[in-house]
Amino acid sequence: MIRIHRGAEPDELRRVRLERLPELARIARTRPPRSEEIDGYRIAAGPLWRAQNFKCCYCERKIPKLYNDVEHYRPKASATREPGSQDRHGYWWLAFTWTNLLFACPSCNRTGKNDRFPLDAGSVALVAKEAPPGKEKPLLLDPAEHHGIEHIEFVFGVIPARATSAGVPPGWSARKHWWPRARGGSLTGDWTIRVCGLDSSEHIELYDDHVDKEARPAARDLEEALKRRRDVTAAFDQAMRLLQPGKPFMGLSYDALRLLVPGDALAPWNLAWPEPREAGRSPGRTRRR
Ligand SMILES: [Zn+2]
Repeated sequence: MIRIHRGAEPDELRRVRLERLPELARIARTRPPRSEEIDGYRIAAGPLWRAQNFKCCYCERKIPKLYNDVEHYRPKASATREPGSQDRHGYWWLAFTWTNLLFACPSCNRTGKNDRFPLDAGSVALVAKEAPPGKEKPLLLDPAEHHGIEHIEFVFGVIPARATSAGVPPGWSARKHWWPRARGGSLTGDWTIRVCGLDSSEHIELYDDHVDKEARPAARDLEEALKRRRDVTAAFDQAMRLLQPGKPFMGLSYDALRLLVPGDALAPWNLAWPEPREAGRSPGRTRRR
């Protein structure tokens, strides 16, 4: 998961908001607006898809085809806020708010996150028309606010039985996989993995495949170059291309490359992998010591 940059709000979304919100406010005076009554925000799907480099905002898989759905960071019709709050009302007044909208794959959005929006203890859920964050302390990373790499890391190894939210399928325990866990004990990283199901077997198969097809070949070329002491910088630059924000599973590539080619091997060449907070921030630029 890496930080996304939405850019400017599309005019069309502003128009829809001005048109639809008064009606929802009218309904909300007597009861919470239902999911099917909250519509029109889907026009944001295309602009978000492009702004996110055609990737899911949570798992970073490429979404090859635009489909007509939009993820609400703060859920629109109902919200499950445990452990921090028992309130269940949705954030209907943010249903057309650009900074609340994301583009996510069906697996992260519908199978995983759904209406979950966990808040930390001491939170007070926003009330109607209140602007975020108020007194809410979300336990879910906001891809537009946080750099996910700082909170989630990928490791290679046998998955401990209780490490995944979805459970480990039979036969998996014997093999090593690439799987995500909280970096440095990040609480929000841990919650985000579980809420979005970033550790589901479906995701883990994609991670394994990505490392085999992209990160391992790049690491192998770099190791070869280091051994031959030739074309090291070129091989390093080639590997760094996997850390451009538009590349799929950039956060995974980041940890895979660092594990496969440790920094000690690069140091004599004045080369270094970026720090988590710097990874993917400057597209195409390689950092040297
Ligand atoms: Zn996803």
